[in-house]
Amino acid sequence: MATGKIEDRSIRLGRRLTLFRDYATVLLVENNWDQEYIVRQWNVAGNHLGDHVVRNCHFLSITSRCRICHVIRECKSYGCRHLLCARCVTGYLEENINAGALNLVCPVQHCEKMMCPAVFKSDVSIAVRNLFQRNLNRSFLLAHPDEEFSYITAAYDFCLGKKWYILAFVVLVVLFFKGPRASMNLNLNFIL
Ligand SMILES: [Zn+2]
Ligand SMILES: [Zn+2]
Repeated sequence: MATGKIEDRSIRLGRRLTLFRDYATVLLVENNWDQEYIVRQWNVAGNHLGDHVVRNCHFLSITSRCRICHVIRECKSYGCRHLLCARCVTGYLEENINAGALNLVCPVQHCEKMMCPAVFKSDVSIAVRNLFQRNLNRSFLLAHPDEEFSYITAAYDFCLGKKWYILAFVVLVVLFFKGPRASMNLNLNFIL
């Protein structure tokens, strides 16, 4: 339930601030999920909202010298300009996520930019990835105590997440029922 709402709000905030969706989530987590506060503050001169996010992030995956272990191997960027290998990143991520962290700072000294969850999720085990999502949902629900579980909102979220499949299914059903009949009528008209 909360997962769909988190995605929804992150996408909307990302569009409003021209920010990558996952960095919008980072901002929401940092600011108690208060979207309006973030938007109000974002354009105030000297605000510190954007200190930990990367406005024009680029995600690379190349063979390079890891910024931490200095070994040349397959490295990725996590939003900021640093290229890091999975060996250096996985342990750091899993340890922090297991401790409940939601926003993870790039482990390179003095970087202070948050790592993008969309990228680092593939570097941790499924169990840790699920724990991260559960912790994110819990944080969202703590800020929205009225958002209790209800079958209606759960069904709504489910439909929202699968809207293109549902639309395709409806189109197929319509075509299935309308299509043969329409062609049958045509054939009959032709025969009569
Ligand atoms: Zn490394
Ligand atoms: Zn960095």
